[in-house]
Parts: sequence; C-alpha cells; structure tokens
Amino acid sequence: MAVSQHPIIGNSLASLDVITAFIRKVNPSFNPEIARQFLTVGAKYGVRGDVAVAQSIHETDWFRFGGDVKPEQNNFAGIGATGGVPGNSFPTIKDGVTAQIQHLFAYASPNPLPAGEALVDPRFALVARGIAPNWEDLAGRWAVPGYDRSKYASLQAALEAGETYGHSILKLYDGMTATAPVPTVKPLIVIDAGHGGTDSGASGSGLLEKNLTLTLALLVRDRLVNGYAANVKLTRSTDVFVALSDRANLANGWGAAYFVSIHINAGGGEGFESYVYPGTSGGVTGQKRTIVHDTIVKYLSALKVVDRGKKEADFAVLRETGMSAVLLENLFIDNAADVSLLGDSGVLTNLANVIGDGVAKAMGLNPEIQPVIPAWKTEGVDWLYEKGLLTDPAWKDKLDEPLPLWAEAVILKRLYDLLSGDGTD
Ligand SMILES: [Zn+2]
Repeated sequence: MAVSQHPIIGNSLASLDVITAFIRKVNPSFNPEIARQFLTVGAKYGVRGDVAVAQSIHETDWFRFGGDVKPEQNNFAGIGATGGVPGNSFPTIKDGVTAQIQHLFAYASPNPLPAGEALVDPRFALVARGIAPNWEDLAGRWAVPGYDRSKYASLQAALEAGETYGHSILKLYDGMTATAPVPTVKPLIVIDAGHGGTDSGASGSGLLEKNLTLTLALLVRDRLVNGYAANVKLTRSTDVFVALSDRANLANGWGAAYFVSIHINAGGGEGFESYVYPGTSGGVTGQKRTIVHDTIVKYLSALKVVDRGKKEADFAVLRETGMSAVLLENLFIDNAADVSLLGDSGVLTNLANVIGDGVAKAMGLNPEIQPVIPAWKTEGVDWLYEKGLLTDPAWKDKLDEPLPLWAEAVILKRLYDLLSGDGTD
C-alpha cells in the first residue's frame, strides 16, 4: 500500500496571523515572535516553517511546556530531551527555532547549510543527511518509536494506518489551515533591470546595457503578469540610477520571494551565463537557478548561443538580498554575433518570455489560461470609446453581449450629433 508523503522542504503556505490565531485558541499567551521566526528561518533553509510550528505544537503541548523542557530553554522540539532529561537550551527564540529547522534540514536535504549560516543544532552531525525527506519519514528517527506500540505491530503498519509521529504533525497542520483560509497571495518576484540613469553599464555597436536590461525587465514583467498572473515588482521601470544596495533593500522591504537581476555581458566573450551567491548553488537558490538557466539555454541554444554555465559570484545584489536571487548575463554587447541577436526586437521578446517562463517554473506558478479575444472584436469597440460614442468602461468586458435598445439609441444619437457637428452633450 502506498503511503502518502508530505515533503519537509518547501515554501510555507500558512501566514503568521493564521498560525498565531490557531495556537492562541488553546494557549492565549502564545508569543507570535516564535511563529515569525519559524517562517523566517524556514524560508532561509527552504524548510516548511509552518509545518515545523505544528511539530512544535505537538512537542510542547501548544507551547505550554508541561514536560521535561521548560519555556526559557527556547527548545521547541525536545532536542536532546528524553524521559527526565531536560534537553538542550538556546539563548534566544531565533536560535531555538534555527536548531529545529537545521535538524529538519539535516533529515530532509543532503545540501550544506545556506551561505553565512552558523550551525546551532547540537545534533546535526548525528543525522544521516537527507535520509528523511518527508514528515512521514520522521517516525523512528526524530521520535522513537514514533508510533503507538500497543496499537500497531510495526512501524509499517502504523504508517499505513496514518498514525505516526509525522502524521500527528500533519494533522495539527491541517487543523491550523482549516481554521482560516490560507491567503492566496502569490509570492513576490522582483525583476531588477541592471544599471540605469548616469550608469549606462556596458556598451557596443550603439547599444547601451542599461536600455537593453530595462527593455528585457519590462517584457519579463509582462510575461509573468499576463502569462502567470504573477505578483511582480521592478527595482526601476524608467531610465533612472538606483544604487546596488537600494535595489536589495527594495526587495527586502517588499518581502520578495525571488530576485532576478538582468544584465548584458561585455569584455570579450560570447554567450549566456547565470550567477548565484557563492555557496548557494547546492540549496534552494541553486535549484531555482537551474530551472531558470536551463529554460533560457534551451531557447538560446537553438540560436547557436554559447552556454557559459552556472556560476557563483559575490555580487552586491546577490549578497545583500535576503531571499533567493539570481543574476543573468544575457549575451555580450561587444560580440558581433551576440549583438545581432540583442538588436533584434523579436529575439529580445522571446528571450524575455523564456526568462519569465523559467522564473515562473522555478516559483511553481502555473500558466494562466486566457481566453483569446480576436482583434476585430476589440477594434470597433475601442473606436466607439475613442469617438465618445460609448463612455461606460463596463461595456468593454461584455464584448459578446447584446446591447439594450436604449444604449443603441444613445450611440446612434451621439453618432448623429458627431456627424452634424453638434459636439455638445
Ligand atoms: Zn551589468
């Protein structure tokens, strides 16, 4: 029998408000800072912080700590605690949450810690890395035996009945998300057009990098919004100078989920390459980059563009952004073959579309199926508005509906007035 599986790695779906309200129903004095840390630290590791909170509800009896662990230990998952032993203590809420997220990360992923993260989980090295990618895999590992031995003859039997340590966590999580609707706010994607204003970037054959990056960024935005109903913001949408730190700060302040910086290369080479911050290739940031890079290269290779590879660099916008970030170097402005492509608006549009498609895929967005409205339907109606024969914008959404007699009469009267030179209403 197949046992359903829920990955530990993934984006949180429950909001801070939903989590806090759920816990406070049972424990009114719950400190929401704990839930906030689960979401923040979880996002950093690509671990489901919202489900990890459910694990802590299970471990701490709704953060009321009736067992061996005391609240001041900031140990929300009984790390190191076994029958009478109080377990590990952590100096801050953040450290306690980080230890738990790191321990989950150890079980669910073979990758190194995200860049710049210090190890605080005292039991990290005891885990066979990546051995338990799903919450259902934690029975017999995080919790031993992780099922009721008086009820089930084996772990397998408990798994098939859906009554193990991991199932208890998932049941609590289901309760959490059932109490309030999970907000359907889509993750924010920030598109960063490199250079701008007094900073032209590289140049060649009469082209300026700052103009090409802006053209691409606007087209990528259109693709993501029109094709995927994505939530997109730009660090600049006109020819203005924006400092590198300001670009990162904008994205950080907006709470962005992904940062995509668009540049054109120069300096004697040819082709396409992508960059992530050093040390992040193996993690969530690297996984996203692989999807974006491969989607773009699939298109560019048909144009005989060289794939220069997936690289790492300590660029400011990659270093200072708090979320996953990628920087794309789209062809060389000082290479004849590349410039012939960059100067072709059709190629630029296609390139922007595949960048958008890759980013959407990396963010798990599905294409929006949009009804295609033929131009001949909109042309005539647009003309009616242009001439003032139709004024209420509501009609624009009713292209296929019949017009009531009074509306037809108004249009005819306005047309008569227009033709007889009497423009007054
Ligand atoms: Zn550049």
